[in-house]
Amino acid sequence: MATIGFIGLGNMGGPMAENLLKAGHAVQGFDMVKDSVDRAVAAGATAAASAAAAVDGAEVVVTMLPAGSHVRSVLIGDGALEAAASGTLFIECSTIDVATAREMHAAAEAAGMAMVDAPVSGGTAGAAAATLTFMVGGTDDAFARAQPVCGQMGKAVIHAGGAGNGQAAKICNNMILGVTMIGVCEALVLAETLGLDHQKLYDISSQSSGSCWSLNTYCPVPGPAPASPANNDYKPGFAAEMMLKDLKLAQQAAQAGGAATPMGAAAAALYGLFVNGGKGQTDFSGIIRMIRGN
Ligand code: NAD
Repeated sequence: MATIGFIGLGNMGGPMAENLLKAGHAVQGFDMVKDSVDRAVAAGATAAASAAAAVDGAEVVVTMLPAGSHVRSVLIGDGALEAAASGTLFIECSTIDVATAREMHAAAEAAGMAMVDAPVSGGTAGAAAATLTFMVGGTDDAFARAQPVCGQMGKAVIHAGGAGNGQAAKICNNMILGVTMIGVCEALVLAETLGLDHQKLYDISSQSSGSCWSLNTYCPVPGPAPASPANNDYKPGFAAEMMLKDLKLAQQAAQAGGAATPMGAAAAALYGLFVNGGKGQTDFSGIIRMIRGN
């Protein structure tokens, strides 16, 4: 078992750190919000007073922060890379832009550390149940070291390639998700105008070529998929502002790399309207209300 520094104990990081504690690791936790640190301590972690203190004596460091700027500030500004022992493995799980992820890999290498970018899919429920999917970018050696640790927080750990490729996989996946959710919402609203029951369309399309996760598992109307947020007044789940963040990252990468992603651009624009309308904290499937006009 290892000593693990864990920085960013929010909605995702908190339960992920708890799963590392359950697996028998010693966890040194740090977050800017004291309540989050207190929760981790109640679960068995040691409180660290700073990011640098969290990495002190750790063999592995996990970061789970909001965006690229926070990751840069923790690893470089707050000195986590500098304070760690040579060869420490950094598992960077936040969803951030590919360019910053690659810059962090280079900084880690220059500081004599190993690093993987390892964003996750599966949401807060997956974080609590240790059923996340990890999409991992980095060298074969770094992946081999990260795999068992990620495996204690998730059900699938997939090596997507070199530095930044975990983030690349994450934004591609979530662009599919944003686009398919809007398509499913439009089809359900069209069905309403045609007098076709939601349940009937679900029964047919979930077994036809329209089948997809946004329909089958996360159906954006109450009824057909009982566990979907539509059955809970669209409480997240996966907040619309998070979806917008990921769609913007995909657009940024598409522009930088010259990929044509018109459906991804449309999805980003529609989620921008939804979030600007005050719905950022609504589950992303709640966009059906905007599409319906209510
Ligand atoms: P969150 O806001 O709940 O947690 C982030 C934590 O980082 C907060 O507790 C915050 O205080 C802390 N933090 C910020 N700056 C810090 C600093 N400089 N030093 C120490 N702590 C700092 O967010 P979350 O929902 O846990 O998401 C974390 C990441 O995971 C994001 O990149 C998000 O896109 C990604 N993600 C979230 C979900 C989800 O469903 N919530 C799903 C998949 C991926």
